[in-house]
Amino acid sequence: MVIEIISVGTEILMGNIVNTNAQYIASRLAHLGLDSYYQTVVGDNPDRIRGVLDVAFSRSDGVILTGGLGPTKDDLTKEMLMEYFGKEPVMDEKALAMLQERINRNGFRELTDSLKKQAIVPKDSLILYNHHGTAPGCVMERTDGKVCVLLPGPPKEMQPMFEEAVELYLGAKSDKVLVSLNVKVLSKQEAPLSIVGESPVADRLGELLDSQNPTVATYAKEDGCLVRVTAAGKSREEALALAEEMAKKCKEAIGAEYVRYIKED
Ligand code: ATP
Ligand code: MG
Repeated sequence: MVIEIISVGTEILMGNIVNTNAQYIASRLAHLGLDSYYQTVVGDNPDRIRGVLDVAFSRSDGVILTGGLGPTKDDLTKEMLMEYFGKEPVMDEKALAMLQERINRNGFRELTDSLKKQAIVPKDSLILYNHHGTAPGCVMERTDGKVCVLLPGPPKEMQPMFEEAVELYLGAKSDKVLVSLNVKVLSKQEAPLSIVGESPVADRLGELLDSQNPTVATYAKEDGCLVRVTAAGKSREEALALAEEMAKKCKEAIGAEYVRYIKED
């Protein structure tokens, strides 16, 4: 399954905030074994969001959007997506009760219409209740099987929602699991005059770098080169076994005395 990430927010486009949500989601998708080929940032503008969705759904099976689920006027992602997917907006009683409870707990605010707007959800969708903020997320499925996951912008709300619910949902759709092992090579300080720089390491790895599953890639790091071995399998055990076998080959090719450790990513 191919998933693409759309980060909604003029704040990101203006350089006011760093798009950590895309980075976080991308790394989780990789662990789930889901392919992701594109990421887009778009401002809080309905026409441009629509344009981005048209492109995304033409090349991916699913889209994860973050941002714009809150109560203010520029928070229009959910309304837009309900219209785009042809889903009827309905008030969700549980989300409304959770919202009321959060507001009571905070003491002073009344449940205004704009706050209530957050408890409106697309009918016949999977609602992702927000235990760390006010706006629930949701998963909408289209009759053609295309999927859209809407998540709140604040990372402290988005990340637990992703880990508690979205991973279960998407994991069930993924037909593979990925496991990565890091083969850490000694730094130049630890092994002066040795082969530990990135290109000598790559030379020693030779054909192993062309392997398709597992893949093997080298990264130059301040504290010594890193070789990342990533394997896909039908189960975690299968992927781990493949990765371990390849990591061992890498260690032998580099020279065991130059490898500080092999650890799961
Ligand atoms: P809220 O209910 O807080 O309005 P929201 O779902 O409407 O949430 P936004 O209004 O788009 O989300 O963003 C709210 C805040 O969340 C931003 O000010 C920023 O701090 C954080 N945020 C939004 N998008 C991202 C992102 N892509 N990466 C990191 N942080 C983000
Ligand atoms: Mg907002």
